[in-house]
Amino acid sequence: MSPAFAFVSFLPPSKPFHPWSRPVIRCSSPQAPNMDRRSAPNPPRRIVVVGGGVIGVCTAYFLTKRLSTASSPSDYHVTLVEQSAAVATAASGKAGGFLALDWCDGGPVQDLARASFVLHRSLAEELEGGRSYGYRPVTTLSVPISESGSPSSTRSTKDDLPAWVDGPGRTRQRARTIGTTENTAQVHPQLFTRALLDKAVRDFGLDVVVGRRVEAVNVDDEGRVKSVGIAGGGGGEEEVEAEAVVVAVGPWSASFGLLRNVFSVYGLKAHSIVLEPRKKDEITPHALFLSFSPKEGGPALDPEVYPRPTGEVYICGMSAREDIPDDPDQVLPNPESIRMLKRVANAVSTHLLEGEAQVKAEQACFLPCTDDGIPVIGQLPGIPGCYVATGHSCWGILNGPATGAAMAELILDGRSQMVNLDAFSPSRFVLTQKSR
Ligand SMILES: Cc1cc2nc3c(=O)[nH]c(=O)nc-3n(C[C@H](O)[C@H](O)[C@H](O)COP(=O)(O)OP(=O)(O)OC[C@H]3O[C@@H](n4cnc5c(N)ncnc54)[C@H](O)[C@@H]3O)c2cc1C
Repeated sequence: MSPAFAFVSFLPPSKPFHPWSRPVIRCSSPQAPNMDRRSAPNPPRRIVVVGGGVIGVCTAYFLTKRLSTASSPSDYHVTLVEQSAAVATAASGKAGGFLALDWCDGGPVQDLARASFVLHRSLAEELEGGRSYGYRPVTTLSVPISESGSPSSTRSTKDDLPAWVDGPGRTRQRARTIGTTENTAQVHPQLFTRALLDKAVRDFGLDVVVGRRVEAVNVDDEGRVKSVGIAGGGGGEEEVEAEAVVVAVGPWSASFGLLRNVFSVYGLKAHSIVLEPRKKDEITPHALFLSFSPKEGGPALDPEVYPRPTGEVYICGMSAREDIPDDPDQVLPNPESIRMLKRVANAVSTHLLEGEAQVKAEQACFLPCTDDGIPVIGQLPGIPGCYVATGHSCWGILNGPATGAAMAELILDGRSQMVNLDAFSPSRFVLTQKSR
């Protein structure tokens, strides 16, 4: 099988659910805690967040929300810098937006994911997410689909499949419910990210600079962060003062020498298409995790299908490791991967057949992945004021809110109360290097 035909694994759960059995969430109230009660003696006054993906925007949102309750909010200044002309144009704009409460249970990301799922729910109430960015609980099914072989003409009465999943790829094997409206949900990731940014700008005083690239994080003689260098329009570099910098540039992390010296992040390119069926009203809120057997044989692939409240249907998969271009706008989809996703659509539903549904997008983006598969969230060892948040792989939209809220606590209070960040610390790579 060519690597371009591999599907990224979005971790459909192989173990039984135990969603409510462990009270592990130490999630603070969605209300911003009072700055004066909780702030560290000297929280930084000028903070720059680099990267306008979901991680950078969530961090900027929770930082500014906290600081807006300070006795003198105008003493603090948070700026987000994004190299593209708008935020959420990379993975954070092209992701599926699927959320799960407990699919990361049993691993190091468990508490972060649970806290984030809860925060997504409260943010949706606060920002009218149902209306503004397509937040909604969904039922999630595991569905076997085969491109060849005889389609199932009669359905088992026990089958959970919604009526629109009527394509020729249905098999006699039963679909299984693997998520309910209690523990799985979705957002439109780009609209979510932009809604948070708009709120932070409008109500909490966030400054945003788009279309300019941060070239460097500068430190003083004692190794403490003092500024960032931002590329100027005329080719020069503007130095912007900063007591703290959060580098949240996803798969572009390696472009910062300070990070590259400590750990590596690589990009896994994944593809997606967005289809608009003619009979949009017939598409129900069911997220599908497929086991897709292509007609030419070989191992089954595992694409995902996410209907959105607009009636559009998002389908993703087809991942492979590739070099990442400097500019997110230069990330182009591979035609054979897009063709395969259309074959998936044809096999799943007659509503998604070519000609029946309009193709709204054919796209690709990069998942930010670390060598140990765990996000990196924390302060860089030996560089006070330099924070990093990246490596969220296929769960960045889910884990954005708790990452941002925990990061705000870490920067302003010196430690995060909502989630223990120890497992995510970049120091773990230094310890590993020393012990070799
Ligand atoms: C096909 C696909 C489907 C997915 N589906 C889901 C899903 O259903 N649920 C889920 O939870 N997750 C999903 N993910 C994962 C999720 O999209 C990512 O984990 C998340 O978007 C990563 O966010 P980020 O902010 O770290 O990075 P990005 O979104 O890549 O943002 C990084 C930003 O930094 C900017 N930048 C880079 N360098 C600089 C610089 N020097 N100066 C200024 N700006 C800079 C970039 O332009 C970019 O905008 C999916 C991913 C893919 C690829």
